[in-house]
Amino acid sequence: MSTNLQELLESNRQWAADTESREPGFFSRLLKQQTPQYLWIGCADSRVPANELVNLLPGELFVHRNVANVVVHSDLNCLSVMQFAVDALKVKHIIVVGHSNCGGVRAALLDLRTGLVDNWLRHVQDVRNDHADWLETLQPEQRVNALCELNVLAQARNACQTTVVQDAWARGQEVVVHGWVYGLHNGLLEDLSLTVSAAEQVGEAYRQALANVKKRYEAARVNSAA
Ligand SMILES: [Zn+2]
Repeated sequence: MSTNLQELLESNRQWAADTESREPGFFSRLLKQQTPQYLWIGCADSRVPANELVNLLPGELFVHRNVANVVVHSDLNCLSVMQFAVDALKVKHIIVVGHSNCGGVRAALLDLRTGLVDNWLRHVQDVRNDHADWLETLQPEQRVNALCELNVLAQARNACQTTVVQDAWARGQEVVVHGWVYGLHNGLLEDLSLTVSAAEQVGEAYRQALANVKKRYEAARVNSAA
């Protein structure tokens, strides 16, 4: 077993050299400041690397990731990232990004016990419980991905309700909150049409996006049953 991870350090040197030769002065410019326009709040899953998926370079995307892309009002880690992104960096967009076949969402859905993370996933189980009757109407194989999308909407709504975002909107700062889902099977991001730029839009935007998600799954269920 390699103990010094030489291959990673070698890859890094190659990447730095390639980047600098493609754009001379790249790193010395970044040293002076970062001006990302976007805050990405995504799942920690290694198959969902934020920058690569949207082809953004260092300095262009501010990122927070945790298991199952949860935004909790008492999570000082996530809130601190959000506050720095909004107040100091003045990001224009906060994008909550879930992904299909999320292991955290699957564990929450099926009450799988895996350890400490079970407590964290209680937040996703709250989402499951809110929609338990509807999830029951779907075919079992649809339920994980449906809950992944419901979870994105719930966590994006939580992001809207943080003091960070509410205060930004109250002082007239432009911040738009979005909900997206990434398909592990095809590498594509999908906009769940939750796009919120003012406090008074949150409720209606959430209801609309929720209705859209449900309609899509119900249509898929009917089609596969036919
Ligand atoms: Zn995940």
